[in-house]
Amino acid sequence: MASTGGNLLQRTRCLYFYDVTTPCNKRTPGSGCSAINGINRGNGILGMSELCIATHPSDFCVALAALKAKIHVSGPAGNRIISIEDFHRLPGDKPEHDNNLERGEIITAIELPESKFTKHYTYLKIRDRLSHAFALVSAAVALEMDGDRITDARIALGGVAHKPWRVLEAEASLHGQKGDEATFAQAAALLLSGARAYEHNGFKIELASRTAIRALKQATNGTPQDQSSKKII
Ligand code: SF4
Repeated sequence: MASTGGNLLQRTRCLYFYDVTTPCNKRTPGSGCSAINGINRGNGILGMSELCIATHPSDFCVALAALKAKIHVSGPAGNRIISIEDFHRLPGDKPEHDNNLERGEIITAIELPESKFTKHYTYLKIRDRLSHAFALVSAAVALEMDGDRITDARIALGGVAHKPWRVLEAEASLHGQKGDEATFAQAAALLLSGARAYEHNGFKIELASRTAIRALKQATNGTPQDQSSKKII
């Protein structure tokens, strides 16, 4: 449903998932993946499996990943808390499962741990048109800074994998560094380590790198992205 919990549970926008005349392992397990050799412009470049190369379409979840949100759930076995990094799944051998909710569990709350990212953050979304489009690539960045040095960093990518994509080594590479182009390029390279392209989505690897670097600049400069201005100030 169109709710906060529903946003976490939204399903992929892979074309074939919605075209019931085509094979899709996520819709019909064991039927095959039409995207791998089909129109895969919007599909994943990281964390895919041989059974599914879908991406998670949410923007909200990418920001939640950067903020290390905790998802409170309730079900027949009681209440529990799932960290956002453990909430969504990579497709693996069970692409029909988008997340780690158990049968009968519902989301009751989303908790955002306290952080010091109030001055240096951004969410940058790159899409085919300015509104009503899902991200080709997006980046959520949250930085803590002491002068011109980065003391804590989070960065999550959207539109590239079956779940919001974080790489702890990429974040660690920013610690203690000045926010300059070389540092950001190194972090972007670590984020995209192991990226793989299919016939139509090779452009997303370069696009994701540029998006990450630009979002890091934007957050460092303390000018959060909004929908009316795409300038880096
Ligand atoms: S990428 Fe996943 S959702 Fe898309 S056709 Fe393949 S199995 Fe289905």
